[in-house]
Amino acid sequence: MRNVEVINDLSYTLTVDDIVKEMKMKNLPERVRGMIEEVYGLLTDVARPKAVFKLSYIEEINDDRVVIDGIEFKSRVMALNLKNVGKVYPHVVTVGVEADSVEVDKSDFLKEYILDVTKEMILRRARETFERILFDKYNIEKASYMSPGSLSDWPIDQQKQLFELLGDVKGAIGVELLPSFIMKPVKSVSGIYFPTKVDFKSCMLCPRKNCPSRKADFNPELYEEYMKGK
Ligand code: SF4
Repeated sequence: MRNVEVINDLSYTLTVDDIVKEMKMKNLPERVRGMIEEVYGLLTDVARPKAVFKLSYIEEINDDRVVIDGIEFKSRVMALNLKNVGKVYPHVVTVGVEADSVEVDKSDFLKEYILDVTKEMILRRARETFERILFDKYNIEKASYMSPGSLSDWPIDQQKQLFELLGDVKGAIGVELLPSFIMKPVKSVSGIYFPTKVDFKSCMLCPRKNCPSRKADFNPELYEEYMKGK
């Protein structure tokens, strides 16, 4: 198996004002801003976001099955996306165990919420850094990614295969795959980047209404094309 690569301290930029903006609270009371500053301080003092990734090759592909470095994935959407692709980049990016261990008073729901929002933002920005590093390293001009569990076509239990592809993820960056296939720290993302000329996002095939994390509009024509015969 080809070696994985590890980044142990992904950089990110985040300010208290960024968090205030993300919380979308009108007329933010000073008391709440004080809480945000406190949580921001606690997290940014210790947070060390990390990534593990590798370059992998597609060995077989047919209608709803793809074999990557000897490991089989079942997904029609993946098979269509990877039809003309030779290389892919499996990865896990995490906010890190250090930030995950930060705690606030659990009875203070607002502070808990601020903690959650701030960890999510650190993860999102660290992922952007990871993406730049990955693209630079492999001269990738444009790529999209898929994550297990984002579509019913590629269910979350295929995290198992993704983690197999990456080897000892816990040893590399501290991310554990629980029996439920959820990752711990929960503020972690996993998936497979693949070079593409068109912009693909799983959200285009997901009809869920009012999803706060939606990254692209639902595309009924694309849905029809990818799902026909299912
Ligand atoms: S719309 Fe929401 S639930 Fe659906 S794939 Fe996108 S982020 Fe996931």
